[in-house]
Amino acid sequence: MSPYRALLKTKAYLGGKWVEAASGDHFPVVDPARQATVAEVANCGAVDAERAVEAGQAAFQTWSRTTAEHRAMVLQQWHDRLLEHQDSLAALITLEMGKPLAEARGEVAYAASFLRWFAEEARRVYGEIIPASSNDKRLFVLKQPVGVTAAITPWNFPVAMIARKVAPALAAGCSMIVKPAEDTPLSALAMAHLFEGLDAPAGVFNVVPTQDPKEVGKVLTTHSAIRKISFTGSTATGKKLMKQASDSVKRVSLELGGNAPFIVFADADMKAAAEGAMVSKYRNGGQTCVCTNRIFLESGSEQAFLDEFLPLVKQLKVGPGMEEGNQVGPLINEDACKKVETLVGDAVRQGAEVVHGGGRHELGGTYFQPSVLRNANPSMRISQEEIFGPVSVLSTFKSEGEVIQLANDTPYGLAAYFYSRDTARVWRVAEQLEYGMVGVNTGLVSTAQAPFGGVKESGIGREGSHHGIDEYLEIKYVCLGGLEP
Ligand code: ADP
Repeated sequence: MSPYRALLKTKAYLGGKWVEAASGDHFPVVDPARQATVAEVANCGAVDAERAVEAGQAAFQTWSRTTAEHRAMVLQQWHDRLLEHQDSLAALITLEMGKPLAEARGEVAYAASFLRWFAEEARRVYGEIIPASSNDKRLFVLKQPVGVTAAITPWNFPVAMIARKVAPALAAGCSMIVKPAEDTPLSALAMAHLFEGLDAPAGVFNVVPTQDPKEVGKVLTTHSAIRKISFTGSTATGKKLMKQASDSVKRVSLELGGNAPFIVFADADMKAAAEGAMVSKYRNGGQTCVCTNRIFLESGSEQAFLDEFLPLVKQLKVGPGMEEGNQVGPLINEDACKKVETLVGDAVRQGAEVVHGGGRHELGGTYFQPSVLRNANPSMRISQEEIFGPVSVLSTFKSEGEVIQLANDTPYGLAAYFYSRDTARVWRVAEQLEYGMVGVNTGLVSTAQAPFGGVKESGIGREGSHHGIDEYLEIKYVCLGGLEP
């Protein structure tokens, strides 16, 4: 039996029950490694989304009144279950989105770390007592859950992106409705399966799979009972959702696209820089929002970097994620593959040189060769748009000022990376990069205890860290008057 069978759920999870869509419709989930349909999942619509909101409202009444201690216990137990089923859940992730099993296992551990972190943070939601200006008053600040919340999540981390949102929501006392990406509903439903039976009211966590994100998204962004929407995905969709949510003045958290610069100064440790670039570029086949998009090398150090970097790229094993040892799986779908192909073609026409790879992989399907291009310039589409594929794009710079300007010359501001051994430069550059996250001498920055998020058109709000729970809390000021002076 396949390791993931026990976690395979195909109905929607609404109000604590597994139900078919009101329409009775289904949609296929495709394994990108084989281009084969692996399941048919309930295709929910507006009616189902409304049912989920009602379930969320009912659950909120009791969940918001439970003790933080209790919510912490539920999250901790969910965490434990994720880890107990780490291998099966990882296999399911790989099945529906293609990443190598080792990375999928890492994703489950990363997702679980948010459940644990927010189980701990649930107990640290402190209010305030403010000194009053007269003796007959006392001023208090309470922090209370915002209410019913919704999450719209992407396919590239189909478990972790849900955990990162639902953990702080539940910790704060909110209920949540999740609309997973149409490519990856199975991981979300497996999360619900692992939640089932924990001591929480039915409807605290709901999953509404759909092939029509617009219809369900409309309900989630406009329903008056939903007080907050958290989204991870493209900037274009994020802008639409923000507009839709504005009519009912919902709180929004947006984690959107990036265009991460990776700067290597001549004084850097080139081996470490090459290793950092590998992690930050080729993880998940280049399909993460914090993946390096543009590699800037200080003049004179290009060859030294390539000498360390190229052998590592050439060693990458491409193949089905389910086969242990493969490091780069297929891209999520044909559209994604075409987009990478188009960006590379455009760059080459404008003078970029292919150092390695440069096209589809001989395995066919949506496999793309790990590639390296050099002589890129800022006017190329590949320098301006998120590549979301295993392609490194190199160019050179002459001075610190020039590269900071190049790095910041984008509407995005999610993650940036640079390598240098000069402490004064480290501070100067870190402070001047207009990004929400900066990795210095590392290509990997995400961790549950640090604030993840972007500036400019890369988003609003932070996930993870002690700031993450604030996104799900309202501040209420209570002024108690009439006291004896
Ligand atoms: P990507 O390019 O990574 O697929 P998207 O922003 O299109 O990014 O998708 C991220 C999430 O947003 C997915 O869950 C997708 O279904 C959802 N989505 C896309 N368009 C809409 C929309 N108009 N309304 C609501 N959700 C949407």
